[in-house]
Amino acid sequence: MFDSLSSKFTSAFSSLRKKGKIKSGDIDEIVLEIQNALIESDVALEVAESFASRIKERSLADLEQVNRGTNPSQAIFDIVNQELTEILGGSARRIRMAKKAPTVIMLTGLQGAGKTSLAGKLAFYLKGQGNTPLLVASDLQRPNAVTQLQQVGSDVGVPVFAPEAGNGVGDPVAVARAGKKFAEDKFHNFVIVDTAGRLGVDEDLMKQAADIRDAVNPDEVLFVVDAMVGQDAVRTAEAFLAGVGFDAVVLTKLDGDARGGAALSIVTRTGRPIMFAATGEKPKDFDLFYPDRMASRILGLGDVQTLAEQAKAAFDPQISKNLEEKFAAGDDFTLVDFLDQMQAIKKMGSMTKMLGMLPGMNSGAMKKQLENFDEGELVRTEAIVRSMTPEERVNVKVLNGSRRARIAKGSGRSVSEVNTLVDRFVGAQKMMRQLRNGGGIPGMPGMPGMPAGMAIPGMAKGSQKGQQPPKKKSKSGNPAKRAAEL
Ligand code: GDP
Repeated sequence: MFDSLSSKFTSAFSSLRKKGKIKSGDIDEIVLEIQNALIESDVALEVAESFASRIKERSLADLEQVNRGTNPSQAIFDIVNQELTEILGGSARRIRMAKKAPTVIMLTGLQGAGKTSLAGKLAFYLKGQGNTPLLVASDLQRPNAVTQLQQVGSDVGVPVFAPEAGNGVGDPVAVARAGKKFAEDKFHNFVIVDTAGRLGVDEDLMKQAADIRDAVNPDEVLFVVDAMVGQDAVRTAEAFLAGVGFDAVVLTKLDGDARGGAALSIVTRTGRPIMFAATGEKPKDFDLFYPDRMASRILGLGDVQTLAEQAKAAFDPQISKNLEEKFAAGDDFTLVDFLDQMQAIKKMGSMTKMLGMLPGMNSGAMKKQLENFDEGELVRTEAIVRSMTPEERVNVKVLNGSRRARIAKGSGRSVSEVNTLVDRFVGAQKMMRQLRNGGGIPGMPGMPGMPAGMAIPGMAKGSQKGQQPPKKKSKSGNPAKRAAEL
């Protein structure tokens, strides 16, 4: 998502950075580049033009000031960053709670936009914050929508109010009304109403959605839209705004390779903020939409804040604390610790997604590496470590040739893969010792001792060669002897 826009912005700024003083002609040039990049990414023409003209206006107004600073191109970059954040809605918008529970959230949008999946994601998100949501199956139109919602609810452990089987049978307005009543009686503090969509905007659809709205008086009507559909998303949003009205937008499928124009136009065109974004099919692929973080990603600065939050959520504080204490006490980082960390990384989801949040990862060579990233490496690495005995995990020095052969057999990997893992682990262990001696561990909060090159197994092949600790020249081809030398 936003990849091509991001690389165009990056390349526009890299030429600006090469300039010392910035002249008004340089501003014209970059503004034009930005405008074209936006249009090519499906941003509505007038939105792209007004965005570009604001950048131009602000940059030219401040040009003297900009050139007086130590880093003129950075000053322009900051203006673009601020304007991009603004066009994406300024600041994150949170759910407006009902004065008296339950808070009712109604989902609207076209069929296939991702409403039903989103109902599950939203329920999962709310549940994770200690709420007691109830899902209400008011999509009685789409084949299997009710059973899909029941499945989604059971996946995330949230009850589903579904008195009608759907598939064209039942009154969705009555179901929504009864669902709200049920939530009141059973003290659910949130109600999420899934409604029917159509393949295109039509009057029946709008009328039904408006009737449901009037029946349950929602605190939030969310318009769910597939970000992959480009300009059409904006047109559909406008039609729903006129026909049903909504308070905020949810963008789904941001993980796709859409050009992203919808996200950039929708706020301006509808005057409604984007509240949530879905980035995959799993319940956890969902978060509040943060305009500043999205702007940062588009500009190639990554999204370290989200990454850090995810890391904090995935890493067991007790395990992190134990590791920190161990480290402070001068004990070595072992494969047991490594396994704990791998579990946490797995909990954070796809490695490619995580790495994509790092600055500079979405452009040029890094992007290629990311595309070639081998997610399976994590699984293979874990299989190798799991085939080791507890003693071997704590002390890799005992790993002689026959033990390595046994581990290879047990994990279904080759001996050379086992050797590579051990070599890299020992290198990482050394790096940890050096870091300790030098004081402090660089890295993210909640991720103590994530040795580069070690903690990212999938990046091993070729991609991180430069970052790997130098291998000791072994005098022996025998792994047992090699292990003894380490
Ligand atoms: P509805 O008709 O609006 O209820 O749409 P669904 O919830 O059934 O979603 C339609 C399809 O899109 C399903 O196959 C979902 O798994 C998929 N989907 C929904 N959200 C996302 C997302 O954020 N990313 C991806 N990749 N797929 C999604």
